[in-house]
Amino acid sequence: MVNFTIENVLIAASDDYATVDVQIVDGRIAAISPNLQVIGTAIDGKNKLLLPGFFNAHTHSSEMWQRGIMSVFPLELWLAELYDFAPLDPEQIYLGALGTAVETLLSGGTSVVDHLVLIPGLELETIAIAVRAYTEVGIRAFIAPLIQDESLTAGIPSGESAQSHEPYFRSTAATLEIIEEAVRQFHRPDEGVSILVAPTGIQLCTDALFEGCIELSDRYNLCRHSHLLETKAQEKLAQEKYGCTAVTHLKRIGFLSDVYNGLRQRTTLAHCVWLNDADIAILAETQSTVVHNPLSNLRLGSGIAPILKYRQAGINVTFGCDGASSNDSQDLLEAIKIGSILHNVTDSDYQHWITPRQAVEMASLGGAKGLNIADKLGSLTVGKQADLVLYDLTNLSLLPRTDPIGLLVLGRPTNVVDSAWVNGKQIVADGKVTTINVDQLRQELFNRSQWETKRKSETVAQMEAHYRTVMEL
Ligand SMILES: [Zn+2]
Repeated sequence: MVNFTIENVLIAASDDYATVDVQIVDGRIAAISPNLQVIGTAIDGKNKLLLPGFFNAHTHSSEMWQRGIMSVFPLELWLAELYDFAPLDPEQIYLGALGTAVETLLSGGTSVVDHLVLIPGLELETIAIAVRAYTEVGIRAFIAPLIQDESLTAGIPSGESAQSHEPYFRSTAATLEIIEEAVRQFHRPDEGVSILVAPTGIQLCTDALFEGCIELSDRYNLCRHSHLLETKAQEKLAQEKYGCTAVTHLKRIGFLSDVYNGLRQRTTLAHCVWLNDADIAILAETQSTVVHNPLSNLRLGSGIAPILKYRQAGINVTFGCDGASSNDSQDLLEAIKIGSILHNVTDSDYQHWITPRQAVEMASLGGAKGLNIADKLGSLTVGKQADLVLYDLTNLSLLPRTDPIGLLVLGRPTNVVDSAWVNGKQIVADGKVTTINVDQLRQELFNRSQWETKRKSETVAQMEAHYRTVMEL
């Protein structure tokens, strides 16, 4: 492990900034103070801002292959198109994970939660290759294999019509076995790779699958991740399926709180657009974390999540890019910006609005809290692990000199990440990822794709009429 000292660097201090030295010893922050003695390598922090690394707390890495081309559809039809053209080659999974990691790192993220779409029949291979990609880059990875046990059409409300659905191609038990095997093979939190249980959501999962995930989560101490009430259709579907809201149901079956080990913050829920006040109270009570994916919610017309209400209820909120097919980038700073200022139009009381400093805390400590590691990560605190990002304040997009965090969150920063470390290991230096060959990655992404504008999803053609009827369009 390389020890180092960042000298004369700007850090946030209460409502101001301070110029300090930061010592990193054995992967941890050992001291933060002006005029420290240099331990290990000296790093010049002059005119740079040091922040804890952000969490890209919800994404799907293999969606990289379809960014830019997805039709202008709401989630349910978008998903049908996405799956008709899903990448089926493990090498594509590898490259998609590398690309996701690189873009996350270069926009301030040092951790990624990959709700990883599995290639049918090659599920463990998919997980293995994503683990390989993230390990090579050195980003902290939370791999949440995306599982379901109902077929796609079951995710749309039936309405007045009687709908029948094909059974899912793999049994619930077989799916749970895959996850348990993935935990045995790859769950190594101390080495920067964690496996999460991650049923995709109430729209495509039975109670048996949720219950199996809860059981694995308790047995192996795994965090839980799921989509929740992303669309109006899902709100409708929950009423059809359970006769109550999805949140009430998830609480009833025990997915939200950890009944065995006392209350633990380890459930993160992506989107949370269509919750009512009673649902919000339940998320607060169970200390669930909301992962806000503002760009995806806009792109798919899902709605504006009531983030200010969540914050007022005391719910922990953090940010995600969501997959690159519904965003269509992995720029975390962009998600943080839009995810903050979007809500100024939802509440006229400006005292509730999210400030740039609050946004930074949501993106860093908020992510750590959701993954039950706030004691180890998420802030510049002596004793915490050194997942750090150094921003170049002389970059044109951060000039002239005003408030560095204001410039970073409210501006449109480009190429501003100078350096990044995960667990004290430097993986970005001079604005470049040092652990993998990014030029080669670019070449591979280029060679394995082509300019494309026209394609037709057969599944969309089959589903669209029913969707329009049931959504009264
Ligand atoms: Zn998602």
